[in-house]
Amino acid sequence: MKGVLILLDGLGDLPVAQLENKTPLEAANTPNLDFLAHRSDMGCMYPVRQGFVPESDEAIVSIFGNDLISSSRGQLEAKGADLKLTRGDLALRVNFATIDNPKNGNIIDRRAGRTLTTEEAQILAKEINTKIKLSSDFIFKPTIQHRGVLVIKGGLSDNISSNDVNVYESGKFKETRKISFCEALDEEENSQHTANIINEFLVQIFDVLDKHPVNEQRRKKGLMPANYLLIRGAGIEIPKLKIYKKWTSMVYMPLEIGFAKLCGMNVETFEYPKLKGIDLYKNLYEGLEKACEASIKMLKKTYKNYDYAYIHIKETDIPGHDNKPFEKKEMIEVIDKILFKFLIKFATLNNIKLIITGDHSTPCKLKAHSADPVPVLFFSKDTIPHENNFNEKNARNGTLGKIEGKDLFKKVGFLR
Ligand code: ZN
Ligand code: ZN
Repeated sequence: MKGVLILLDGLGDLPVAQLENKTPLEAANTPNLDFLAHRSDMGCMYPVRQGFVPESDEAIVSIFGNDLISSSRGQLEAKGADLKLTRGDLALRVNFATIDNPKNGNIIDRRAGRTLTTEEAQILAKEINTKIKLSSDFIFKPTIQHRGVLVIKGGLSDNISSNDVNVYESGKFKETRKISFCEALDEEENSQHTANIINEFLVQIFDVLDKHPVNEQRRKKGLMPANYLLIRGAGIEIPKLKIYKKWTSMVYMPLEIGFAKLCGMNVETFEYPKLKGIDLYKNLYEGLEKACEASIKMLKKTYKNYDYAYIHIKETDIPGHDNKPFEKKEMIEVIDKILFKFLIKFATLNNIKLIITGDHSTPCKLKAHSADPVPVLFFSKDTIPHENNFNEKNARNGTLGKIEGKDLFKKVGFLR
């Protein structure tokens, strides 16, 4: 093995008052990461391009050297969920959400409070698949917690809008407050036809879900009902991505699993711990520790057979969305204690280069992804040692300079 890429989802942040005007990465106590940083070059990366606010799929597709146009979120998620698609099948990423009622259409929470368990989602999915009647065949498959994939069969268009439109005003995220219907984004008859089918689906969904025993139970526990679906990332073509045959990976979210599979990587994964009770962060810390341990296991198992490894860690994105800077800082400390500690020895002994970065910034105070560049660390034994720690500020002044996502691997000599 020659190199390992560690992508911490939503790593980049902005200084926050709660952390004495430091970013979570800057404030975190990370002796192992500091050790690596002192032997690394740093830089900052615009995952797609300057001024662009990336979704996770857009970011990874770009960092791995592909044009955005060659991919779609729905297709990647469907691949990750092991759904077999034929050309023309429309795949969409879906979130269970909470609304007040379809008449007012106010979105109370875009992820049903993030407290929906995978088991609850599976029961609701069964209901959706049996009760909803559409003029085209469809399958709804839940993946992890509030996440799922919707596939509608046969010859449709993907040039349609989402019913979950992120509104940006002068580059800043403005949360969607109202549900909307899908619209055709061109004059083609098929796009209108497709939008109509999805809207047929959407008008039935609230009645199927709202009074379901799963949701009645949730209300009794003081939890938000999962009574609506937000859909996005329409795709009809299996993405044609650059192939990374010499790479191995440790990925566990459907999007990243789908992406790694379509890139031809070896895929190692683990089963996400079950959400018990309502403490989402307890579940996230559990998942994070498991992810770090699974990454170490993957590296030990595959480093003799592959040139490069891709590790994707999801948890760090979520405290950014929830404006929880302490939790984001703590998560970085957990990764330091387990994964970075291991990587020091592993990389030094085997002369392996490391890239540590994020797929995009998710600043706590914005509660959303932003166009801010992400810090990049590149560890190699040839680096001249220095004393700078790894954070957004030092990365901006780093020797690697400003990088666009598609040039990252070229810049540090990682190959396909
Ligand atoms: Zn992301
Ligand atoms: Zn995010």
